[in-house]
Amino acid sequence: MTAHPTYPSLLDLPPLGAGHFAAVEDKVASLLRTRSDVVVMQGEALLPLEACIRSAAAPGSVALNVVTGPYGETFGRWLRACGAEVVTLSAPFTGAVSAEQVARALRETPSIGLVSLVHAEAATGNTNPVAEIGAVVREHGALFMLDAVASVGAEPLLTDAWGVDLCVVGGQKALAGPAGVSAVAVSPRAWERMEANAQAPRGSYLSLLDWKERWTDAGRTALPHAPAQLEMLALEAAVDRVNGEGLEASFARHRSVSAAMRAGVRELPGLRPFVVRDEDAAPVATTLGVSDEVDAREVVAAALAVDAGVPLQAAGGALAKEMLRVNHYGQAARIEVAAASLEALAAGLRALGLSVDSGAALRAAEAAWDGNGNGAAAH
Ligand SMILES: *Cc1c(COP(=O)(O)O)cnc(C)c1O
Repeated sequence: MTAHPTYPSLLDLPPLGAGHFAAVEDKVASLLRTRSDVVVMQGEALLPLEACIRSAAAPGSVALNVVTGPYGETFGRWLRACGAEVVTLSAPFTGAVSAEQVARALRETPSIGLVSLVHAEAATGNTNPVAEIGAVVREHGALFMLDAVASVGAEPLLTDAWGVDLCVVGGQKALAGPAGVSAVAVSPRAWERMEANAQAPRGSYLSLLDWKERWTDAGRTALPHAPAQLEMLALEAAVDRVNGEGLEASFARHRSVSAAMRAGVRELPGLRPFVVRDEDAAPVATTLGVSDEVDAREVVAAALAVDAGVPLQAAGGALAKEMLRVNHYGQAARIEVAAASLEALAAGLRALGLSVDSGAALRAAEAAWDGNGNGAAAH
């Protein structure tokens, strides 16, 4: 007989009750700086993202979809599937969209009633100025949906102050928590829009209105179905941990590790920060462009062969040859991880025949980390 490992903290738990579930929602609401209803949907973040669009986008309505990376492209497909007319505003994946560009698009098409935007794009490494864009959207009167999955915990996210009507977050990026449950804050305006949409999902796993009727409006006393208990506990632990550290401290770590990676990479041959301007770079992950002489997939493979522990990843899809990313989020938002990643990249480039001195990269990274005031009590 083989001995089976035991997982005493994972099994045989008492059921997660409605009160506990509601308390997790309240903790997320406080993290998102919102007084709106928060629904913790029982699936990966694409569930609330799709639920928001299917609920809010009625046939014949007009939506402005801002595309600064692959998630925006997905939103466009869902919006069209709902019968919405989609105006697309694309920014190069190497930068951000500006509030002026959004304002111009809204002026050109006054019938736009919904704006969808991704805050930070982990896949392309950029982040958008949501506060400014939110002001423009609010002035126009459109509903504002934000994918904040990659930004929550890594950079400021002020749902109500920025006028975000649908704010979607997940636990798996900067919170270093579970991927199996995710949350959405829904403003009163957004609920009204969904209720007016005859096509909004009902009696469906994609239905936010089901949650409203059966859970939120019913006083949050009885759960509609068995909750994803382990994931709920992990989400709560992740939120508690980031609150324990202090949100500002978490933001500072992410900002500093991003600055460190960008400064270090500028000292390595064959690589450059993919996002051009520092202010457009997402604190959650740094994407790197490679020069023509190397293939990004080979750089990642060679670097991981030297140190399998660094958070390097080859880009997917069309960018696979020319971009790679460093996922320095959660507990990986530390100078030690940036330094190890730079060392591994240097060794990988060396293995591919380039002449590399990692010393300058490490010194630049450490100077940028310190220069960001990190670790100092000032934050
Ligand atoms: C990670 C992420 C999600 C969640 O999607 P997965 O690809 O399944 O992890 C959604 N939106 C953004 C912007 C993300 O970075």
